[in-house]
Amino acid sequence: MTIPGPGPRIDLHVHSTASDGTLSPAELVRAAAREGLDVIALTDHDTLAGWDEAFAACPPGLTVVGGLELSCVHAAAGQPPISVHLLGYLVDPRHLGLAAELGRLKAERSRRGERIVEKLVTAGYPISWDRVLEFADGGSVGRPHVGRALVEAGVVESVDDAFVDLLSATGPFYVRKADIDAVAGVQLIAAAGGVSVFAHPAAGRRGRVVDEAAISVLAEAGMAGIEVDHPDHLRADRERLRGLAADLPLLSTGSSDFHGANKVNRLGQHTTEASAYEELVSRACGSRPYVG
Ligand code: AMP
Ligand code: ZN
Ligand code: FE
Ligand code: FE
Repeated sequence: MTIPGPGPRIDLHVHSTASDGTLSPAELVRAAAREGLDVIALTDHDTLAGWDEAFAACPPGLTVVGGLELSCVHAAAGQPPISVHLLGYLVDPRHLGLAAELGRLKAERSRRGERIVEKLVTAGYPISWDRVLEFADGGSVGRPHVGRALVEAGVVESVDDAFVDLLSATGPFYVRKADIDAVAGVQLIAAAGGVSVFAHPAAGRRGRVVDEAAISVLAEAGMAGIEVDHPDHLRADRERLRGLAADLPLLSTGSSDFHGANKVNRLGQHTTEASAYEELVSRACGSRPYVG
């Protein structure tokens, strides 16, 4: 009898300093190789800026999938808008429509970050926009960078603690970004040759989440999968989402949403089955995984 060996370890959602992770793309691919991962997808918020460095530093034996995590919104009539994160894999980085949207979102993130800081400063928290920009270091500005300024100022002990209250989407200092509609996001990723996966659809501690009807609308628009195994999902959510994926049908993925020191999540904390990964790759035509 042969006992099957462990399959490849595939983590399809990690962040670098191109957005709000704390490892540079080069450090990230080296850390992934040290952890024994076979495939990672670099999915920085609203930017592809880390791809080239990650590919150039990719150690032998590791594969890097170029991706992004696109900020979108789901708005149903009479309901407050709900933030939706779409993972887009293997898009064509030269696609003009995608590049235009990412340019718009970069400026939008900067304006919105500055407004969050203004509100916190007005309430007496001793941080500054300049310091937040230093933490972002030219990358896509996000709330975790404001969190680092709050940690440095001694207001909270960790970035995670900053989200409990001060940076919470339901708190008084929150400022919305003007994100694109989630169906338009799926269509934009497809137009750029990529495939999309709904990130952490049941991560309720971040704010309200969409219902199953909204997920099936996105599936009809061409979304390929949902992230079932994610650190912010309770076990019961994962089982429910696995069932939903089987019913629709959609691919199920698993990933860490690693952010370096900005979050407690560990690289490879959850992983994706090789069959789902291969199906995602086969459906994309914008770019190919980079094999180190
Ligand atoms: P932003 O894109 O600026 O809205 O910030 C979103 C980032 O903040 C995501 O990368 C999340 O990982 C992080 N985040 C959102 N909610 C929480 C939370 N409750 N605890 C820790 N991190 C969070
Ligand atoms: Zn993030
Ligand atoms: Fe996300
Ligand atoms: Fe993420």
